[in-house]
Amino acid sequence: MESNSKSTMPCAACKHLRRRCTEDCLFLPYFPAAEPEKFMAVHRVFGASNISKMLQDVPVTDRGDAAASLVYEATARLQQPVYGCVALIASLQKRVFQLQSELDEVSATTMRLRTQLSSALSFIVSSPQSPPLACAAEEGSSHEHNKQLQQCQYGYSYPQMKDYYTEL
Ligand SMILES: [Zn+2]
Repeated sequence: MESNSKSTMPCAACKHLRRRCTEDCLFLPYFPAAEPEKFMAVHRVFGASNISKMLQDVPVTDRGDAAASLVYEATARLQQPVYGCVALIASLQKRVFQLQSELDEVSATTMRLRTQLSSALSFIVSSPQSPPLACAAEEGSSHEHNKQLQQCQYGYSYPQMKDYYTEL
Protein backbone atom coordinates (compact mmCIF):
# COMPACT_ATOMS: atom_id res chain seq x y z
CA MET A 1 0.00 0.00 0.00
CA GLU A 2 2.73 2.42 1.06
CA SER A 3 5.06 1.31 -1.72
CA ASN A 4 2.25 1.87 -4.20
CA SER A 5 1.76 5.42 -2.98
CA LYS A 6 5.51 6.02 -3.21
CA SER A 7 5.68 4.59 -6.69
CA THR A 8 2.90 6.87 -7.84
CA MET A 9 4.54 9.92 -6.19
CA PRO A 10 8.05 10.34 -7.62
CA CYS A 11 10.60 12.42 -5.74
CA ALA A 12 11.46 15.89 -6.98
CA ALA A 13 14.67 14.63 -8.59
CA CYS A 14 13.07 11.82 -10.56
CA LYS A 15 10.20 14.05 -11.57
CA HIS A 16 12.61 16.71 -12.83
CA LEU A 17 14.86 14.17 -14.56
CA ARG A 18 11.80 12.37 -15.98
CA ARG A 19 12.76 8.99 -14.71
CA ARG A 20 10.98 6.31 -12.75
CA CYS A 21 11.27 6.76 -8.99
CA THR A 22 11.70 3.57 -7.04
CA GLU A 23 11.35 2.81 -3.38
CA ASP A 24 15.13 2.74 -2.95
CA CYS A 25 15.71 5.98 -4.87
CA LEU A 26 18.66 7.81 -3.32
CA PHE A 27 16.95 11.21 -3.59
CA LEU A 28 13.51 10.18 -2.38
CA PRO A 29 14.00 10.83 1.40
CA TYR A 30 15.70 14.21 0.92
CA PHE A 31 14.03 15.78 -2.10
CA PRO A 32 10.28 15.33 -1.75
CA ALA A 33 8.00 16.16 -4.64
CA ALA A 34 6.32 18.84 -2.53
CA GLU A 35 9.56 20.92 -2.51
CA PRO A 36 10.81 20.85 -6.10
CA GLU A 37 12.78 24.10 -5.66
CA LYS A 38 15.30 22.33 -3.42
CA PHE A 39 16.31 19.82 -6.06
CA MET A 40 16.21 22.50 -8.76
CA ALA A 41 18.76 24.55 -6.81
CA VAL A 42 21.21 21.71 -6.12
CA HIS A 43 20.82 20.40 -9.66
CA ARG A 44 21.65 23.77 -11.15
CA VAL A 45 24.71 24.31 -8.96
CA PHE A 46 26.14 20.82 -8.46
CA GLY A 47 24.42 18.59 -11.02
CA ALA A 48 22.38 15.47 -10.22
CA SER A 49 25.31 13.13 -10.71
CA ASN A 50 27.52 15.00 -8.22
CA ILE A 51 24.71 15.19 -5.67
CA SER A 52 24.28 11.43 -5.97
CA LYS A 53 28.01 10.89 -5.38
CA MET A 54 28.14 13.30 -2.44
CA LEU A 55 25.18 11.65 -0.74
CA GLN A 56 26.67 8.19 -1.26
CA ASP A 57 29.99 9.33 0.22
CA VAL A 58 28.42 9.95 3.64
CA PRO A 59 26.76 7.48 6.03
CA VAL A 60 23.02 7.06 5.62
CA THR A 61 22.44 8.64 9.03
CA ASP A 62 24.17 11.85 7.85
CA ARG A 63 22.57 12.12 4.44
CA GLY A 64 19.68 14.25 5.65
CA ASP A 65 22.09 16.87 6.99
CA ALA A 66 24.27 16.58 3.88
CA ALA A 67 21.27 17.16 1.61
CA ALA A 68 20.15 20.12 3.73
CA SER A 69 23.61 21.73 3.57
CA LEU A 70 23.78 21.16 -0.20
CA VAL A 71 20.43 22.90 -0.59
CA TYR A 72 21.62 25.74 1.64
CA GLU A 73 24.84 26.21 -0.29
CA ALA A 74 23.15 25.93 -3.67
CA THR A 75 20.46 28.46 -2.74
CA ALA A 76 23.10 30.89 -1.47
CA ARG A 77 25.20 30.37 -4.58
CA LEU A 78 22.23 31.17 -6.82
CA GLN A 79 21.54 34.37 -4.87
CA GLN A 80 25.20 35.37 -4.53
CA PRO A 81 27.04 34.04 -7.61
CA VAL A 82 30.37 35.45 -6.45
CA TYR A 83 30.53 34.66 -2.73
CA GLY A 84 27.75 32.12 -2.21
CA CYS A 85 27.18 31.25 1.44
CA VAL A 86 30.47 32.99 2.32
CA ALA A 87 28.59 36.30 1.96
CA LEU A 88 26.04 35.16 4.54
CA ILE A 89 28.76 33.93 6.90
CA ALA A 90 30.69 37.21 6.59
CA SER A 91 27.52 39.22 7.23
CA LEU A 92 26.68 37.15 10.31
CA GLN A 93 30.27 37.41 11.60
CA LYS A 94 30.12 41.19 11.23
CA ARG A 95 26.87 41.22 13.22
CA VAL A 96 28.45 39.02 15.91
CA PHE A 97 31.36 41.48 16.24
CA GLN A 98 28.94 44.42 16.50
CA LEU A 99 26.90 42.69 19.19
CA GLN A 100 30.07 41.69 21.07
CA SER A 101 31.19 45.32 21.03
CA GLU A 102 27.78 46.47 22.33
CA LEU A 103 27.88 43.78 25.00
CA ASP A 104 31.34 44.94 26.11
CA GLU A 105 30.06 48.53 26.44
CA VAL A 106 27.02 47.43 28.44
CA SER A 107 29.20 45.27 30.69
CA ALA A 108 31.55 48.22 31.33
CA THR A 109 28.58 50.48 32.17
CA THR A 110 27.17 47.84 34.49
CA MET A 111 30.50 47.52 36.30
CA ARG A 112 30.77 51.31 36.68
CA LEU A 113 27.24 51.61 38.04
CA ARG A 114 27.84 48.73 40.48
CA THR A 115 30.93 50.49 41.76
CA GLN A 116 29.01 53.74 42.21
CA LEU A 117 26.19 51.93 44.00
CA SER A 118 28.64 50.15 46.27
CA SER A 119 30.32 53.47 47.14
CA ALA A 120 26.97 55.10 47.84
CA LEU A 121 25.84 52.23 50.06
CA SER A 122 29.10 52.20 52.03
CA PHE A 123 28.79 55.98 52.53
CA ILE A 124 25.25 55.59 53.87
CA VAL A 125 26.26 52.75 56.20
CA SER A 126 29.30 54.61 57.54
CA SER A 127 27.38 57.88 58.12
CA PRO A 128 26.71 58.54 61.85
CA GLN A 129 23.07 58.17 62.85
CA SER A 130 23.53 60.16 66.01
CA PRO A 131 21.93 63.61 66.01
CA PRO A 132 24.06 66.34 64.48
CA LEU A 133 25.52 69.19 66.44
CA ALA A 134 22.45 71.41 66.06
CA CYS A 135 20.34 68.75 67.76
CA ALA A 136 22.21 69.14 70.95
CA ALA A 137 19.73 71.81 71.84
CA GLU A 138 18.49 71.88 75.35
CA GLU A 139 15.17 70.23 76.04
CA GLY A 140 12.23 72.28 77.23
CA SER A 141 13.29 75.25 75.18
CA SER A 142 11.30 77.25 72.67
CA HIS A 143 9.02 76.04 69.91
CA GLU A 144 11.88 76.65 67.50
CA HIS A 145 14.05 74.16 69.30
CA ASN A 146 11.33 71.52 69.41
CA LYS A 147 10.93 71.81 65.69
CA GLN A 148 14.67 71.45 65.35
CA LEU A 149 14.65 68.27 67.40
CA GLN A 150 11.86 66.80 65.28
CA GLN A 151 13.91 67.46 62.18
CA CYS A 152 16.88 65.71 63.74
CA GLN A 153 14.81 62.59 64.39
CA TYR A 154 14.18 62.32 60.67
CA GLY A 155 17.90 62.23 60.05
CA TYR A 156 18.54 65.59 58.42
CA SER A 157 22.14 66.69 58.45
CA TYR A 158 23.23 69.86 60.19
CA PRO A 159 23.85 71.98 57.06
CA GLN A 160 20.42 71.03 55.66
CA MET A 161 18.74 72.06 58.93
CA LYS A 162 20.68 75.28 58.98
CA ASP A 163 19.44 76.12 55.48
CA TYR A 164 15.93 75.17 56.49
CA TYR A 165 15.86 77.57 59.41
CA THR A 166 17.50 80.31 57.40
CA GLU A 167 14.64 80.10 54.92
CA LEU A 168 12.11 80.43 57.74
ZN1 LIG B 1 13.41 9.47 -6.99
